[in-house]
Amino acid sequence: MNNLDKFRYLYDDPSQLNISLKKDPYEKVNDFKSNNLNQLLSTSVKVTKEIFPDINKAIENVFKRLKIDNNLNFFVTANHIQTQALCSAMPLGDSAEIILTSKLIELLNGNELESVIAHEVAHFYYQHALYPQASSSTNRIEILNLLNFSRAAEISADRIGFIGCGSLEASLRAMLKITSGLSDKYLKFNFSSYLDQLRELKEIKGDKNLLYSTHPNFLNRMQALIWFSMSNEFNKSFNTGKKGSFDLKEADEKINESIKKVIGNEVDYSNKDVVSRALMWGSIDIFLSDKKFSKKEQELFKKNFGDKRTQSMLSFMKMANPKSIQVKIDNTFKEASTLLKKDKENIINELSKLVKVADGDQNSLNNTIKKLKTNIKL
Ligand SMILES: [Zn+2]
Repeated sequence: MNNLDKFRYLYDDPSQLNISLKKDPYEKVNDFKSNNLNQLLSTSVKVTKEIFPDINKAIENVFKRLKIDNNLNFFVTANHIQTQALCSAMPLGDSAEIILTSKLIELLNGNELESVIAHEVAHFYYQHALYPQASSSTNRIEILNLLNFSRAAEISADRIGFIGCGSLEASLRAMLKITSGLSDKYLKFNFSSYLDQLRELKEIKGDKNLLYSTHPNFLNRMQALIWFSMSNEFNKSFNTGKKGSFDLKEADEKINESIKKVIGNEVDYSNKDVVSRALMWGSIDIFLSDKKFSKKEQELFKKNFGDKRTQSMLSFMKMANPKSIQVKIDNTFKEASTLLKKDKENIINELSKLVKVADGDQNSLNNTIKKLKTNIKL
């Protein structure tokens, strides 16, 4: 395991998604070439040491520091408004194109540019292009969870941005310049006063619009990077001679909490809601394996979900036919299939306990839990 794998942010964990990554980012699974390369070759300028010696040097420095191979293509494109860089990768290919805008290059010095280049390389290295896109989903829960993932991916990439440029200050300066669009001439780099802005934002209960953003806000990103630089693991790996203030896992948890303070707990609440609905309807599915909701099972249900819910479940079942009950169960599990793996595992674990106490023959109970496991995509 190299440093890049070691420093991936705890909440950027692809094993929680319904995808499998390639063993190694340089592996080529298919030959699909993106149209992007054709388009870029005809409309943008490819970075070579002859045409852009400084940018080329910055790229070389990054790969040397990251200790990985460079088989990526870098382009500069005229865009005087956008400060962002972009990594465009075919998910199953072995390469990627990284596009730097003219505004970005004008704005940043060499060291700062290195942090942005390394950040984009990280998206390729971590195979973030394989993550499902929130924009391609229509399910609210899935959208919220995927956006959470997208923000977590940025935290990972920022770390590699920092390692790739070798300077915390250059990374933070790059973030400030990109966010404000302003150059050294106007900015004073007093980081504690930017963190005051974060405190102020939290005090006014954050910015709920960020719930729908693919990136965390720049204040959270700066703070996340500072905390990362204070971790025991970082200081040990890079022999900084300093002692860390906490373990990386602890830093990651602090970062997650801090981001939540800004965007709110909406994702947690929504997920909890889906989990509890899945537990309720999953229980019903298990209890009805023998087509009967026995007195004993009703008592078990009451113990788990309370009086009120038991009453409304009983009156629903009185009016509904078996088919519409099944539709309700299937829809609930379809929605639950968009949760993270750990939530899905919890649901199935809890429901498996019911199999042991429910009435009916063991075979059909086992079949029910097997079906629920398939429907929830585990
Ligand atoms: Zn990014």
